[in-house]
Amino acid sequence: MQAILRHLPAGARVLDLGCRDGSFPRTDYPGLRFTALDREAGAAEVQADAAALPFQDAAFHAVIANHSLEHMEALDAVLSEMGRVLRPDGSIYVSVPDASTFSDRLYRWIYHGGGHVNLFRNPAELTGRITSATGLPLRATRVLHASFLYLERRHFRPRPPRRMWLFANGDGRVILALSFLLRTVDRLASTRLSVYGWAFWFGNLREPVDTLAWTNVCVHCGSGTPAELLPVRRRFLLRSYDCASCGASNLYTPDRPERT
Ligand SMILES: [Zn+2]
Repeated sequence: MQAILRHLPAGARVLDLGCRDGSFPRTDYPGLRFTALDREAGAAEVQADAAALPFQDAAFHAVIANHSLEHMEALDAVLSEMGRVLRPDGSIYVSVPDASTFSDRLYRWIYHGGGHVNLFRNPAELTGRITSATGLPLRATRVLHASFLYLERRHFRPRPPRRMWLFANGDGRVILALSFLLRTVDRLASTRLSVYGWAFWFGNLREPVDTLAWTNVCVHCGSGTPAELLPVRRRFLLRSYDCASCGASNLYTPDRPERT
């Protein structure tokens, strides 16, 4: 979403849709005016149904739907409302899980559905729906990889469900190993075990988006980084790096098969 947000003029309005208290840190964009909207009462600035947005037409420069469209009933109404509240020169960033992946199936199994009412399996079908509802063309797509941080013990209060025994009740070392193992199998066997879903950019984009998938996603905070930018160090037979966002230690895998 940086490719959209860092080019908006000072004072531009951004709608963060279905994100509780916000789906990303705002401190990087002090000049923008953010509105977080969620249907549930809580930390969001506006409590409302995304299918009936309480805003005027063309009120926003950008709409961010970060890990939220999979939760929204009446999706076509939500998409058409996104188009209505956006300016004609506006932009949209969407990220959603691919329901066919191991990561999303595991999430839904652990969390008994996890509130995913829309199971997206076909990116062309979804982006076509977004374009026809909003009038904005698709500009870029990136495959996103999973952090598996939904397995962390802190998400289960007062205690993890019995099925979490399989993952040592969310022990951080098990999640670290699982993430590394799945990425390694993906590289060796061309599988998609570590894939989460997709990110899509629509409308006005003032910089090209790097569409290469970033396989290194922090298991503690979920931020992804291109492999070539990571401060990698040797750790016995493995390679590791500390996440630039949260400092957590992660195991490194190359983004593309290396030449030997
Ligand atoms: Zn992190």
